[in-house]
Amino acid sequence: MQEWFGRLPGSVGIGNVRYTTSGKCDVTSLLEGTQPVTASLNGLKLAFSFNGNIVNTLQLRKETDQQFADLPYTCDSDLVCRKLLLELERRKNLAVAVSECMRNIDGAFSVTGITGDGDFFAFKDPHGMKPLCAGHSPDEGTYAFSSETVSLEMNSFVRDFELEPGELVTASRNGFKRNQVIKNPRKAFCAFEYAYFARPDSRFDSRYVYEIREEFGRNIVREYPEIVKDADIVLSVPETGDDPAMGVHEESGFRWERASRRNRYVTERAFILLNKERYSTIDRKINILGPKIDGKRLIVTEDSIVRGDTTKVTIEKLRRSGAKKVYMFVTFPRIIGPCFYGIDMATYGQLIGSNHSPEEIAKIIDADAVCYQSIEGLVRATGQTRDQLCLACITGKYPTPLAQKIADEMKEKFLKGYQEKGRIYETCETSPQSQ
Ligand code: SF4
Repeated sequence: MQEWFGRLPGSVGIGNVRYTTSGKCDVTSLLEGTQPVTASLNGLKLAFSFNGNIVNTLQLRKETDQQFADLPYTCDSDLVCRKLLLELERRKNLAVAVSECMRNIDGAFSVTGITGDGDFFAFKDPHGMKPLCAGHSPDEGTYAFSSETVSLEMNSFVRDFELEPGELVTASRNGFKRNQVIKNPRKAFCAFEYAYFARPDSRFDSRYVYEIREEFGRNIVREYPEIVKDADIVLSVPETGDDPAMGVHEESGFRWERASRRNRYVTERAFILLNKERYSTIDRKINILGPKIDGKRLIVTEDSIVRGDTTKVTIEKLRRSGAKKVYMFVTFPRIIGPCFYGIDMATYGQLIGSNHSPEEIAKIIDADAVCYQSIEGLVRATGQTRDQLCLACITGKYPTPLAQKIADEMKEKFLKGYQEKGRIYETCETSPQSQ
């Protein structure tokens, strides 16, 4: 970083640690998709960094391809950047351009950007699906936006506020200027952030994420009393199962046996890896201390089950180490449909929960039972109401119209045996073009 500071002039910067939910995953494409993306048009320039995922990519490509024909398209960030630049050129006003983007882009987008004139801004889609907060340095000399509060706190910044859905915020040496560009009564903050995606030491509103995850654990104990009676200890799948394990321990009184340890030198997140890498990664990642669980009936806390294969590997290891019973306590309810908004689970076929009941899933992964937290329990623990959250992947009700249309069409096909050929929003031939 010191080297970069020396080489980069100016006092404004943006960046992004990209999690790929759009475009190809080979090394060249990943490098091309590195953010910030930049674009220029008739003397206007824009640098742009974005968290989320766009659903109407085909429509946006059609709209922007002509003006940017010489620039290759790599992923949806390019499209949002180009759309914003086009609107800026047409409207000559950032707020109006952003509001046009908000009206015409279907999907989740939390954005930071810099214009060629050096204007530093951030905005959130009208549903506010992805987190984005603002803060300042203690001397009030520096202003920052961040997806999560943890990066502000790690730099000793003070968190000022979470951006509202549909809000545009500009930052200058005088501080932040807030502008509610679009008002949407239907918020839809991603519920999966609470269970898995966000760092436990980040805060949403005034509560740390880990506190909410502990409550998830307490909830599941209350929801499955018969299972709790048949267990001896609680064990967590490290690390996202740790906080719910604390809650299970508090509510049930069981010892939280720290007999599953994470190998700190295996740093890949198994969930986001390609199929072939996932199995070996999870096997290398978790070490089970056999003598501590031999002959025991276990409650095992886990944040979610997506494909089921990583959980299956964990259970295999537990069985090999002598576990007598394995009850999975899963904090995120059964995932029945794909996500179109920035979590890479984009087909029905990859989701074990899309066509299997909890009992069937237990059989497939060799658990004695799979106990999902209820949707009501999850919502209550977050402190939000149902209509403030996106729960699409666990209810099948999508907050944006195109996503709902694609999901319904593809579900029908999937249940009739259709084999999906990639992320639905990138391969579905009919819906996006018909918009
Ligand atoms: S569909 Fe699921 S993972 Fe995707 S934004 Fe909604 S709650 Fe989050």
